[in-house]
This record gives sequence, structure tokens and C-alpha cells, in this order.
Amino acid sequence: MTEKQDYEVLVLGAGVSGIYQIKRLVDLGVDALVLEADDDLGGTWYRNRYPGARFDSESYTYGYSFSKELLDEWDWRERFSPQPENLRYLNFVADKFGLRQHMHFNARVASMHWQEAKCQWRVETQTGQVYTARFVITGIGVLSVPTEPRYPGMDSFKGQAFHTYWWPKEPLDLTGKRVGVIGTGATGIQVISEIADKVGELKVFQRRPNWSTPLNNSPISTAEMDDIRARYDDIFAQCAESPNSFVHTPDRRGFDNLTKAERIAFWDELYASPGFAILAGNFPEVLMQEAPNQEMSEYVANRIRERVKDPALAEKLIPKDHGFGTQRLPLETRYFEAYNRDNVHLVDLQDSPIECITQTGIRTTTDEHELDVIVYATGFNAITGGFDKLEVKGVDGQLLGDKWKDGPSTYLGLTTHGFPNLLMVAGPQSVSGSTNFPRAIEGAVDWVTELVQHVREQGHTRFEPSQEAEQAWVEEVKRVQQKLLARQSQGWFTGYNSNVVGHEVGTVRYQAYFGGGPKYASILKKAAAEGYDQLEMS
Ligand code: NAP
Repeated sequence: MTEKQDYEVLVLGAGVSGIYQIKRLVDLGVDALVLEADDDLGGTWYRNRYPGARFDSESYTYGYSFSKELLDEWDWRERFSPQPENLRYLNFVADKFGLRQHMHFNARVASMHWQEAKCQWRVETQTGQVYTARFVITGIGVLSVPTEPRYPGMDSFKGQAFHTYWWPKEPLDLTGKRVGVIGTGATGIQVISEIADKVGELKVFQRRPNWSTPLNNSPISTAEMDDIRARYDDIFAQCAESPNSFVHTPDRRGFDNLTKAERIAFWDELYASPGFAILAGNFPEVLMQEAPNQEMSEYVANRIRERVKDPALAEKLIPKDHGFGTQRLPLETRYFEAYNRDNVHLVDLQDSPIECITQTGIRTTTDEHELDVIVYATGFNAITGGFDKLEVKGVDGQLLGDKWKDGPSTYLGLTTHGFPNLLMVAGPQSVSGSTNFPRAIEGAVDWVTELVQHVREQGHTRFEPSQEAEQAWVEEVKRVQQKLLARQSQGWFTGYNSNVVGHEVGTVRYQAYFGGGPKYASILKKAAAEGYDQLEMS
């Protein structure tokens, strides 16, 4: 580690956002450094090593688009690439562009204090290392703060227990083991499907079932990769036009213009299609109107009924409290078939809630479950969690945590009033939480970089959004969210997390912008074209 402490820009996080952000800054000759809490780069793909972890974006839409050379050199091997390969990819990018030398690892930031007199941020790590910088850009992810339940006795368990985010790096042999998985979100569904036929006994502790549809993964042959490579411009153009920034675009024939039989035939096609086609390529009415949503939900419920042999069990796996697509849709590979196995058992926590964790397993109100391993697939303090963990003090010592106590408030999801020279890539109220992540952050990184350039070129040293501009953006975020059926759901999109105080049932936070990638990109473009006139510069 060098002795140098003062930089023009500090970037927090060496994940998908931080890697591209430092690339752009280095190319401009900006004196910048990445501080990364972990001992290596990769963020989400460094941490989430649980069996079954993989993209649910088509791999070739997840890779960076900024370098033709990079696109030429990297081959994706599966349509939905697994975690080890994704981590290899991010390392390949960092090594290819020599980015590692601009990163400090094991540098978990504990606090960031704005120093008005010096017009700079003072950033201190947990180990007491202090840095200063004119600008700070956060790339701390939207799902980087895992949350565990608060059951009594969790420390007493004598076997192995961990959150999926902390799945051990060293190989873990589950052969013959009695494994309990708590949680059936996208993570739990991936783990359960992958380990069902490898463990001795698997008990799934389910509080609320999730809608889930097939991922339909497949290998990518050399010939197909050549074809993809030739079409990259079209693929990224397609993503730029799609609300969710995937290669899927909504079907605008009109839900009511088709007969029910036609709709079902269409859904049969979507159910057999890869990735988020069934969500992003569906009729928009399905996500916005009750009746179409109910019909779609019934369709997916029937597919689950076809796949699970025990009808009573199938009913337990079908959500009854929310409609299809109103929470983040997990994509699965033989998930429902796992429940047809003799060694897999569903423990329905609605019938018998967990009382405590014991030395030997999990006690519910009706049973004692003896286990060797407990896996907490219990999710994240999403979107704002990474900021909650930092002590961010802005103008006059105001704490960001206080400002955002009842929910975030930002201008375009990129800046926030009272916290000058702070830029957030994948910040709250941006599209990073609601669309194909790399597509969103590439746009954000470009915007942020051009803003920093603009501020420097104009000879300014300080900027922050006006309060009015921020209020207007928050209103827009709320307006758009109100139009979606998702506004009623208990998912992380809207800030729900039973394990975080203030995020329990009934919470509605405006954490993400749901206006779609294309609309958001046009708003960013307009803000820059108008000379960033919503930002006060000096
Ligand atoms: P999640 O969607 O928030 O799911 C958490 C699960 O844990 C829910 O089933 C929840 O039940 C349960 N749970 C939480 N606390 C519990 C408690 N105290 N007792 C019992 N059950 C509890 O989290 P996730 O599955 O980690 O997924 C988060 C996001 O990560 C996804 O939505 C996705 O965006 C991303 N992800 C992506 C991929 C990918 O394929 N690229 C894979 C995995 C994850 P309730 O519903 O009842 O609260």
C-alpha cells in the first residue's frame, strides 16, 4: 500500500460499478483510487459463492459494453453464466486494463465526513486509515448488506451456519449432510435446486412462497458465441430500448385484444423461453392491472401444479398473498421438481413458525429439526443498506442516515442535497435496482464521469443538487411506483425486510426508479445537455 492519502476522486467498491468507474477515471488522467472492503475485487460475484449462484441476465447482456476489444476477447460459455466464471470475467477486465494498481483492498470505509473549509471528503477505514478527496463516488452495490434473522439461540448451534453471502470459500462437502435452508427468494431457490440431489436431507423453511419460472439455461457453443459477437451492437441497442434493459421487450398487442387461448399459447412460449422473457417480454398490463395479473398468476400456479406431484405441497409453493411479478421474480432450474424427491421436505413456517435455533438445529412451534448445516438465504438490506453502514456526515454535520431515516431522497439517484461532491453509482432511486444491473451502471458511470469532468473544466470545486430538484425527483419516483402493482408487495424493491428495524411489514420506501432504463437514460441525457442546471456549482 502506498503512503499517498489525498486523491481527486475516491471510488468506494471494486465490484461491477467500481471497476468501470475507475477505468473511466484513469483514462481521463484523474488521480483516483478504489477502496474495497474485501480482500479482492468482484463485489457481488466475489462474495456470493453459494452453489447455484449464476446470472439471470443473459450473460452477453451482463458483460461491459464499453470496449470492443473486450467483447472480442471474452467468450461466454453459458447463456446464464455461473458465479466462478463471472468472477473470472471481472478479474479478466481488471487485469486487461491494469486496474488493480488503482485499488486498495481490505479497506472497509467506516466514515465519510465533508470538510466544508477544504471542500473535500475525509474518508476513514475501519482500521483507521484516512484518505481525503475532492469527490467520492460510491459503487457499493444494491444487495451488499446481508441480513440474518433475529431468532433466539442462533449462536448456540454446534453445526455450520452462515448466510448465503458468506458461503465459505473453501469447498464444503454436503454429501450425506442434513441441511436446512431458511428463505425462498432468488438465492434460496438457486441453492435449493442445486443441492437437493447432493445432500443427505434438505429441509426448506419457507415463510412466504415466491413466484418462480424456469431460467432455461443452455451452453453457448463456439458458433453461437461468434454469432453473438457479430450482433453485439444490436444486442446492446435492444437492451437500451427495453424497459428492464434486457433483450426482451414488452408485448404491446394489448392483453384484451387476444383471446384467453391465444394468451395461454403465448405464455407457454414465454415459459419455455430463456431468462426474463416471461416478465420483460409479457404484456405490460400483467404488471399494472389486477385482472391480467390474476390471470397470469393462475397460469403460473397451474404450471407449478403440473410439476409438483403432491397437490397439497404444490399449493404451499404457490404464492397467495401477491401476484406474479409484483416482487422480484426468481428464475429457477428444476426447483419445483426438487420437492418430488424423498430427501427434500418443506417446513411451512406459516403453519409452524420458528421458535429458536438450538444447539442441534431448528425448533418450530411443532417440531424439532436436527441439522448439520443451516443456510440463511434471508436476503439483504437492499439499496440503502450499504449507506446505512457508513457514517456519512454532510454539510453542518448532518448524517445521511438521519436524512434517509424514512427512506432515501436523491436527485436522479445520483446525488443528494447537503452532501456535496458525493456521487452514487447504483444509488437509491436510480434504475440500478430495477433493471439489468450492468446496463444501468454503465450509463450512470458515464454520466458521473462527465459531470466530474464538467465541474473541473468549469473551474468549480463544489456541487450539490438543489433541494427543489431533489424534491421533484422524489415525487417522480413515487408517481411511477404508484402505477405498479408492485407498490403493494412485500419485497426488497419497496424496502421490505423483516430483519431490519424500520423495514418490517407495512413499510413502503421509494428506493428505486421504476420508469425503465430508456426513460431514465433520456432524463440523464437531458440533465447533462441542460448544463446540469439542477446542480448548484461553485
Ligand atoms: P430475498 O428475495 O429478500 O428473499 C429472502 C427470503 O428469506 C424470503 O423468502 C424471506 O421470506 C426469507 N426470510 C427472510 N427473513 C426471514 C426470517 N426471519 N425467517 C424466515 N424466512 C425469512 O433475498 P434473496 O433471495 O437473497 O434475493 C435478493 C435479490 O438478490 C434477488 O431478488 C435478486 O435481485 C438478487 N439475486 C439475483 C440472483 C441472480 O440470479 N442473478 C440470484 C440470487 C439473488 P419473506 O418473503 O416471508 O420475507
